[in-house]
Amino acid sequence: YAAKRSGRASYKFYSSDKDGSTRRLSVTTRLRRAIDAGDIQVEYQPIYDLESNTVAGFEALARWNDSHLGPVSPEEFIALAESSPLIDDLFDLVLHQALRAAVDWNACTPRSVPDDWRPRRLGGRMISVSINVAARQLHDPRLPSRIIAAALSVGLPLDCVMIELTESAMMDDGPTTQGVLKALRDAGMGVVIDDYGIGYSNMARLGELSTERILDGVKIDRTFIANLPAQQATTLVKMFLTMTDSLGVAAVAEGVETAEHLQILRGLGYHYAQGYYFAKPMSALDATELVCGN
Ligand code: C2E
Ligand code: MG
Ligand code: MG
Ligand code: MG
Repeated sequence: YAAKRSGRASYKFYSSDKDGSTRRLSVTTRLRRAIDAGDIQVEYQPIYDLESNTVAGFEALARWNDSHLGPVSPEEFIALAESSPLIDDLFDLVLHQALRAAVDWNACTPRSVPDDWRPRRLGGRMISVSINVAARQLHDPRLPSRIIAAALSVGLPLDCVMIELTESAMMDDGPTTQGVLKALRDAGMGVVIDDYGIGYSNMARLGELSTERILDGVKIDRTFIANLPAQQATTLVKMFLTMTDSLGVAAVAEGVETAEHLQILRGLGYHYAQGYYFAKPMSALDATELVCGN
């Protein structure tokens, strides 16, 4: 019985918990409690516009520090929440905090960009907020109206709300998913594919999403960036940009950790970048300070 209470090591909470089911049960139970108590925090990681060298927006990332389990990684608790109705309540908590934070970021003057700057729909002159949405949420026809109502209640324009969806979620072209995507888009929100290149992709579907003007951008998965400047990674990162350029959508690089990564991406003409090189996820207050402070 080796109980390691923090970090990734906490996955094996009980040595007898061979298949992890005890851990899953305890995390799920405590997560339910945390959500009911509103005990989920949100951190924000800036996404930089490489054309104007300004912060285009922030990605909202859920954080949970349980009094008994310690900090639980989103990889672990999101996966559990996603396979149950918990994801809806978790989403509401993150959504409301994130939209309120975005109102604050935009309370100072709009970001100043060069005269020749072309908006690429990651919020335009406003500071956008990107929200991660789980695949199963696209099967809920009430999703768009929930977001719209939440944005209205805090007075945030919908065109600075970006929805991040994984590759596999976007590949589902069933009528409900298609209707939800269209409704998000029609309301003015942006839609971005997250972690592109590691899941199941379908080029035809990608073309369809851009032709139907549903797609605003694609984020290349950070594993490709991590392997720069190796030959193969460089080739793939270039191919990705060729693809997004032909589709007319923004190319976003995540996991940018070094000056060299950034230099390569800039050289290629990437539009947006995010990663520890710029900043780690931060509190709402620090995010406001970053864009409004001086
Ligand atoms: P993601 O949406 O791809 O978010 C990016 C993840 O990469 C975040 O991990 C972020 O902290 C991390 N990251 C950012 N820059 C770097 C970097 O330079 N190097 C490295 N190695 N990592 C970097 P985090 O916060 O642990 O979140 C993990 C995943 O959990 C997210 O991946 C997202 O899929 C999911 N997630 C987080 N919050 C939510 C949420 O509210 N709802 C849903 N559905 N999923 C969420
Ligand atoms: Mg994301
Ligand atoms: Mg990602
Ligand atoms: Mg990820």
